[in-house]
Amino acid sequence: MNIWFLTGSQGLYGEDTLRQVAEQSRRIAEALPVPVQWKPVLTDAAAIRRVMLEANADDTCAGVIAWMHTFSPAKMWIAGLDALRKPLLHLHTQANVELPWASIDMDFMNLNQAAHGDREFGYAQTRLGVARKTVAGHVSDPAVAERVLSWVRAASGLAELRTLKLARFGDNMRDVAVTEGDKVEAQLRFGVSVNTYGVNDLVEAVDAAADADVDKLIKEYEELYRVAPELLGERRESLRYAARIELGLRHFLESGGFKAFTTNFEDLGGLRQLPGLAVQRLMADGYGFGGEGDWKTSVLLRTLKAMAPGGTSFMEDYTYHLTPGEELILGAHMLEVCPTIASGTPSCEIHPLGIGGREDPVRLVFDATPGPGVVVGLADMGDRFRLVANEIDLVAPPQPLPALPVARAVWQPRPNLRTSAEAWLTAGAPHHTVLSTAVGVEELTDLSEMLGVELLVIDAGTTPRQFAKEIRWNQAYYRLAQGF
Ligand code: MN
Repeated sequence: MNIWFLTGSQGLYGEDTLRQVAEQSRRIAEALPVPVQWKPVLTDAAAIRRVMLEANADDTCAGVIAWMHTFSPAKMWIAGLDALRKPLLHLHTQANVELPWASIDMDFMNLNQAAHGDREFGYAQTRLGVARKTVAGHVSDPAVAERVLSWVRAASGLAELRTLKLARFGDNMRDVAVTEGDKVEAQLRFGVSVNTYGVNDLVEAVDAAADADVDKLIKEYEELYRVAPELLGERRESLRYAARIELGLRHFLESGGFKAFTTNFEDLGGLRQLPGLAVQRLMADGYGFGGEGDWKTSVLLRTLKAMAPGGTSFMEDYTYHLTPGEELILGAHMLEVCPTIASGTPSCEIHPLGIGGREDPVRLVFDATPGPGVVVGLADMGDRFRLVANEIDLVAPPQPLPALPVARAVWQPRPNLRTSAEAWLTAGAPHHTVLSTAVGVEELTDLSEMLGVELLVIDAGTTPRQFAKEIRWNQAYYRLAQGF
């Protein structure tokens, strides 16, 4: 995956100045926090349009960074910007940090004029309605580097989304509203292709798993987790079947090129256990997952996994601790929480589960690592998609949870539970979410801009009144922005 670096200038300056522009531009490009493909300085409309069309056509190009080192009359950029279909970052920087007060002359002024060159470029972009991220400051500033990096992460997520294939085993859970959605719109807007497979196609792959592979996988479980003694003793057959599910699921997904999937406990066909351990381990390997046929959350999870390595999991707001002043949310799911958010070594256990009506499923049990994070949900509002994100602070459970046989996360939502929950409910945001400590609101903002999808953020500054207004304004804006 590549990011292209474009520099704007014009022919008026002459060869000598353009050589200096190129040289300084190369230095700026090299100082960026990620490697970029530097492109020769652009000085005319035909070359600009050409390079944008090449960016569109190159599947390895995830986005374009543009900087107007000098003055680049922006009518030259109209055709190119209008043609560009890749994410755009407008980097507003300059070669020097300090002005050479004692020696500055008109030659220096003419060479270093991004201050107005980029303003000309900003006008053209806004006039054309070009979606982009604008980052201002010298590239040596860590805050600039971090903001560029966030955009690169978002562009990686978008690139993944554009070619993502998702396999659903069964349909949505019966009668559930929020897990529904328009799969045609999703393919148009996001690029993801969502298709259903009979769960017995999966059962076939599970049954076909080789005994030797099962043995090998169980050794791996013993190395990675604290495996409950009963699973290595009298209930070993249950662990072997859990391993079989993982092998079958992995084989099915790999051979079909799927990077995301869903299951539904109402439709397990010949599966003897609800997939728990297998789903948890596949998530840890970067697969998207959604329970109860929730393909939208699965898509979102895979996208965030592609944006940054680290702690990102399927999650559900499960139950509250409502002691005034100490409010907490306990998040979990029936089984399927990703061990990338685990603090310490997960324990591999088996317990009864009424839901699904099958044999007791094997699962990993752990607490989530404390620290700042975000929960984000994707809802289909009928005429468009809506993302809602809440900044949270994961905390250690105030007391041990010896009787709770599932992986869980405990957090304080910002600004507090009441405002967070009221805002979340007012937004119509889902009960299934993606919880991440690897990706934050900045990346999600960049991604939503690239997708042209609404993002509502609940953070330390949120007030219910302002939030309700934002929803109303957005409703008008996104309907108008769709055109007629
Ligand atoms: Mn659920």
